[in-house]
Amino acid sequence: MDSYGDINAEHAGPDIVDVLVVGGGLGGLASAIAARQHGRSVLVLERDAGPSGVDTGITLWSFAMRALRQLGLDDAERVGAPLERLASYSANGRPLSDVDLRAPAREVGEASFDVHRADLQHALCELLGREQIRYGAACTDVRQEDDAAVAVLADGSEVRGRVLVGADGVRSVVRLQVAPKTRVQTSEIGVWRGVLELDERMLAPGMHLRIYGPGRVFGAARLDQRRVRWYAGGAVPAGTAGTWHEVAARFGGWCEPVASIIDASRNSDLLFNDTPRIRPLRRWARGRVALVGDAAHAALPTLGVSGGLALADGVALGAALGLGLDAAALDAYARERGAVGRRIQREAQAVALVLMPRRPRLLRVRDRLLKPPFAWIQERGVAHLSRGALTPAVADLAWPTGPANRRIPADPDVSVVVSKARQHPSVTW
Ligand SMILES: Cc1cc2nc3c(=O)[nH]c(=O)nc-3n(C[C@H](O)[C@H](O)[C@H](O)COP(=O)(O)OP(=O)(O)OC[C@H]3O[C@@H](n4cnc5c(N)ncnc54)[C@H](O)[C@@H]3O)c2cc1C
Repeated sequence: MDSYGDINAEHAGPDIVDVLVVGGGLGGLASAIAARQHGRSVLVLERDAGPSGVDTGITLWSFAMRALRQLGLDDAERVGAPLERLASYSANGRPLSDVDLRAPAREVGEASFDVHRADLQHALCELLGREQIRYGAACTDVRQEDDAAVAVLADGSEVRGRVLVGADGVRSVVRLQVAPKTRVQTSEIGVWRGVLELDERMLAPGMHLRIYGPGRVFGAARLDQRRVRWYAGGAVPAGTAGTWHEVAARFGGWCEPVASIIDASRNSDLLFNDTPRIRPLRRWARGRVALVGDAAHAALPTLGVSGGLALADGVALGAALGLGLDAAALDAYARERGAVGRRIQREAQAVALVLMPRRPRLLRVRDRLLKPPFAWIQERGVAHLSRGALTPAVADLAWPTGPANRRIPADPDVSVVVSKARQHPSVTW
């Protein structure tokens, strides 16, 4: 029995929960926390054996930080560091722009952050309570009955909920209930990611650095005084293994701190992902089943926004479920969040074409767009993105029942490289 066996043993009581969530990622945990805040009993079914320990970082824009606050995470410095500037350079170290992110943050009332993914996951698990999560529970099928939705697990057992939330990511099983014809599209963009210790002289606090080359982008930002998260993305042929040698071959010779980061990552764990996505779905809910996060709107990661959307979806869904445990509540949630998710899927696709071109003429256009006098587009883009994602349940700390009611009530017995770094004197971090 794994170390979570004892926790799982507690899920033996009543045979139905109010809200059954399939998937314990950002979207699933946010949905479950928010549903509990609104008085519902919840259970999360997660196929992995324990909480995700992925050592990587993600950007959470202001709207997502608002969603985290809604979920009860008031001390965000626990999981990451606030962002003040977005500085862009070309691969040879030529400055393109330096955008102040504090203005768009003020518009929303929350700073944007870069956060450590596993730390965030753990913080959300704590907020929910580990006993509300059943690990090693892979859902293989879902069916709907008159008064319940049923998750069938790989071991043949079944778990019932008044409503069921599909938070099982881009390759969702639950989505078959809502949009059965959806195909997962693979893109040719691959991303390497890692976390390492880096001196503040190499990368200043508050700065999110982006460095652009032909068809490729490298980014880095601090997670705290010690750690930096980095990512390196670009077109990759099918079968790319995601090794250090591959990233070194693609980003070798780029300006500092790229070269140092890649060199220092030689012996550490690298995460490599392709970037599957789905087309915008017309429906996010059907009957007693609704989708959140990547299950509903997996997009290219060019805007760094889908994880934040998953959190915001969860907040909105929880609020809707506070008002009813039926198809009408799920439809209300889908109306609130659907347009945002679909728009961002389209924008992420468009931004990939603008930011990662390979033809020299398009590269020149991109670099012009990143430089003054056009740099303001980035600042406005961040503001537009965050304001647009702030639907009522996410925006308003007093909606719909007031902050005083947002404390989680006690749950009734819930059952269930580059070897040689090139130095560029123009870049001084
Ligand atoms: C390279 C890259 C960079 C990114 N950068 C950012 C960023 O900077 N900012 C940002 O906001 N977003 C970013 N994203 C997007 C973000 O990672 C996703 O949008 C987010 O993880 C979606 O959360 P989710 O909970 O919907 O799905 P997932 O994170 O995929 O979680 C789904 C969960 O469901 C579980 N599961 C799956 N199937 C089953 C099943 N059948 N039964 C039970 N459990 C199941 C999985 O084990 C997993 O725990 C990035 C994505 C990529 C690929």
